[in-house]
Amino acid sequence: MTPGPTPVPEAVMLEMAKPIIHHRTAQFQEIIKQVEEDLKYVFQTKNDVLIFASSGTGAMEAAVCNLLSAQDTVIVVRTGKFGERWTEICKAYGVKSVDIDIEWGHAADPKIIEDALKKEPNAKAVFVTLCETSTGAEINTKAIADITSKTKAVLVVDAISGLGACQLKTDEWGVDVVVSGSQKGLMIPPGLGFVSVSPKAWELVKQSKSPKYYFDFVASKKALDKTDTPYTPAITLIIGLAKALKMIKEETIEAVWSRHAKMAQATRAAVVAMGLELFAPTAPSAAVTPVKAPAGIDGEQIVKLLKSKYGIWVAGGQAQLKGKVFRIAHLGYMTATDILMTISALEMVLVELGVKIKQGAGIAAAQQELAKK
Ligand SMILES: *Cc1c(COP(=O)(O)O)cnc(C)c1O
Repeated sequence: MTPGPTPVPEAVMLEMAKPIIHHRTAQFQEIIKQVEEDLKYVFQTKNDVLIFASSGTGAMEAAVCNLLSAQDTVIVVRTGKFGERWTEICKAYGVKSVDIDIEWGHAADPKIIEDALKKEPNAKAVFVTLCETSTGAEINTKAIADITSKTKAVLVVDAISGLGACQLKTDEWGVDVVVSGSQKGLMIPPGLGFVSVSPKAWELVKQSKSPKYYFDFVASKKALDKTDTPYTPAITLIIGLAKALKMIKEETIEAVWSRHAKMAQATRAAVVAMGLELFAPTAPSAAVTPVKAPAGIDGEQIVKLLKSKYGIWVAGGQAQLKGKVFRIAHLGYMTATDILMTISALEMVLVELGVKIKQGAGIAAAQQELAKK
């Protein structure tokens, strides 16, 4: 129940257990073709989705060094720890970031972004985080894309934890660049990074002078056009991905979004019914629910007991939230049953820690939400 790495379906593991195949073969080309088609479906785009052998952060770095050059100005909307990463990567490439810091636990008011773009009309990109995994807040991507679409700036969305959980209609909403990773909503182990690139963003790629080699979008696209990869791909992960994408397609992306929304709703209803407080009640995400630790209780203690007593792994707080919150993910290969077990175990842990809760109230609230049609 952590926001990555998330559980890997058995069917995916079995695919990955098969003997390795060679990548310069018709057999692997077939797989690449299918994976590309299905990635476009999950990303909800007609644009190419480039695949790199890296974690999600590698794909974030790839977006920065392919779109921009030193001295370019960009706007970074920082809703938490992962938003700050955009600034750090920009800094590494000499890209000047105008940082907009949003109070943790909240989404950014699109109006703030509109104003920032008016002040910085030369900004080449706006960076946001779809689901800010550190705080659980989800941004209003559609409203932000409405604004960036009318400007020269491209919208770059870190959807590493958001993809396959939070609604994201890349082309319909006008999102230019979507970055993701393999170990969250896509249900496979860590090691793949993804970037979808719109025609507007490709124009920036042509102008970019930043140094790059492995992560060069042009090289990657050139190979992809021949259903190939420039270097040895992470063959086993891509084979696992093919299966995971097939599962998502069979369920349909709309059903995947509503399954996540429902698990999130049940989790929120349950913790509130127990008397606990949500960390991001104004902009809750479908991927992860951070919960404030009850007064006088260290959040890490809750995480530890859930793990040692019940074998349930939730995440603690990051940075300044360490000990103050614990985060329950409902992300990827998870269902109502996982939520019921987690809430039930959480109640037992809280009782053991001497927190005054009405035992059973959380599980009843979760049951009610999960039973809704
Ligand atoms: C997990 C995560 C990252 C980092 O991804 P890695 O795969 O660990 O590099 C970045 N942004 C968000 C929103 C995440 O959830």
